[in-house]
Amino acid sequence: MISTGLYIHVPFCSGKCWYCDFYSICGSAYEMDTFLRAIKEEIQLIRRQVLNHEEICLETIFIGGGTPTSLEPDQIRRLGEIIDENFQKTPDCEFSIEANPESLSPVKMSTIREIGVNRLSIGTQTFNPGLLKAIGRRHTGEQTIRAMDLARSTGIKNISLDLIFGLPDQTLDQFQMDLTTAATLGPEHLSCYALTLEPGTKLYETMHPRTDADEILLVRMFHLAHDFLTAIGFEHYEISNYALPGRRCRHNFRYWQNLDYMGLGPAAAGFLNRSRYKNVSDFSEYWKSLLTQDRRPIESEEHLADHEFAGETAMLNLRTHEGIVRSKFQAQTGYDPFEFFAEPIRKFVDLGLLEIQEDRIFLSLRG
Ligand code: SF4
Repeated sequence: MISTGLYIHVPFCSGKCWYCDFYSICGSAYEMDTFLRAIKEEIQLIRRQVLNHEEICLETIFIGGGTPTSLEPDQIRRLGEIIDENFQKTPDCEFSIEANPESLSPVKMSTIREIGVNRLSIGTQTFNPGLLKAIGRRHTGEQTIRAMDLARSTGIKNISLDLIFGLPDQTLDQFQMDLTTAATLGPEHLSCYALTLEPGTKLYETMHPRTDADEILLVRMFHLAHDFLTAIGFEHYEISNYALPGRRCRHNFRYWQNLDYMGLGPAAAGFLNRSRYKNVSDFSEYWKSLLTQDRRPIESEEHLADHEFAGETAMLNLRTHEGIVRSKFQAQTGYDPFEFFAEPIRKFVDLGLLEIQEDRIFLSLRG
């Protein structure tokens, strides 16, 4: 029996946000049905070709995208059935789904609960109407508040809100207002991402390159989120993530611990048997590969040598508050991090970017 995590990338969105470079398309009902058939096939191929037909027990599930809640209720139900038919779940399996506020309805929320989802991540970004418009979002702050109420009334006890800072002409006060509003809603988890300007997006054209003043403001916003959220009881457990005690996202924590997970769907990445793979970022290519050629839709795959695995694990561990824990790292990779990374550790400690405490190496707040 293999214990692992599962990520499913649902590639459908009702439009394109102006900062987004995730793979997404506006899908028809037929394309969504095709997607579900392809997912089923992809699971079979991975089980046959990679996992030797072994039984799989899921510790975490994360349905992301795209906008998973752009699927209709019966499609969400079918996705739940596909998961149940092919995997076992641990009794405390964390089952997350991402949702955009405008895509949630009472029926969809009930369906999400029916298939076993116990954690909801709401794409909030900001509550400010002008800023929502300025980044091409298609919902209002009020809709986010209603989505949160709906989730609570349907029995979801673990909710995360995503915020973005560094939006076009956003002031420190406006970001403080977003943090305050988000905190008032009482989520168990908050993600606060700095806006990244990705080539090819609308905002890249208008905001790139950032000025020094913009960069300084971003740093001030990062510190504002840290100070405000930790003061009201959130743990700053990863660069961009805050959780109430016991409410860290266990699925994302898998990534930062460099544990394996199965990734399904167009543009999804996965990490199985020390091989990191990435699926094609093209829906037609994706489903044709699976449904007409009986072939996994992989665009790239790389098997990590031991030293590469250790290097990746260190980089990922450093994103977290714990950082690299010597005994854990040694058990996982076979390398003593204090010896293997002696040189860079010395350099970054001198620069004030890394700190060492007993057997832990972690980023300083500045780092
Ligand atoms: S809803 Fe999410 S995935 Fe879809 S375009 Fe906007 S940011 Fe990208």
